[in-house]
Amino acid sequence: MEIADVRGDLSQVLFTPDEITGRLRELAGDVDRDYAGKDLVIVGVLNGAVMTVADLARDLKTHCEMHWMAISSYGDGVTSSGVLRILKDLTVDIEGRDVLVVEDIIDTGLTLSYLVQNLRGRQPASLEVLTAFRKPAAAKCDVDVKYVGFDIPNDFVVGYGLDYAGKYRNLNGLGVLDPAVYGG
Ligand code: 5GP
Repeated sequence: MEIADVRGDLSQVLFTPDEITGRLRELAGDVDRDYAGKDLVIVGVLNGAVMTVADLARDLKTHCEMHWMAISSYGDGVTSSGVLRILKDLTVDIEGRDVLVVEDIIDTGLTLSYLVQNLRGRQPASLEVLTAFRKPAAAKCDVDVKYVGFDIPNDFVVGYGLDYAGKYRNLNGLGVLDPAVYGG
């Protein structure tokens, strides 16, 4: 799905597909440099990080495994439910391995700090975080994010894996959802 297909639902277009994939290619270069000779395990956070993992991993020159976790966060709305739990756990042991958690977006940082704390308990050799997008509030959370695609304004965004009520995930760019769409 392209921006033009849903332009009327967006109050602003933030990034074109080329801008996003271009930035991810730069980050893949950083990851290649930092993980040379290491045992890289990418942990993608479902469902939103599917696009980010797919594009990032294809740009890597380093071998990596790709695994997935699902955490409950937002429901169908645009505000956090505040309740976090693991809906789908990893199917591999990460003890002694070099783990890179890949997120779609960090808003309050609540999901990420929960996840990082949980994964650290499994004793990986190293644990770092990459996110495609980050909102300003996330700067206040105490989890270190090593790789950030873009810092974005504090608006509800859709596209590139991010949904509203299950829709817009397959939009190839990123835009601000017009509040009229969700009655805001
Ligand atoms: P946090 O725990 O950092 O507040 O929120 C993280 C999760 O909330 C993200 O993984 C994502 O699923 C959802 N989220 C946060 N901000 C947005 C947004 O602007 N748009 C969409 N679609 N989801 C968001």
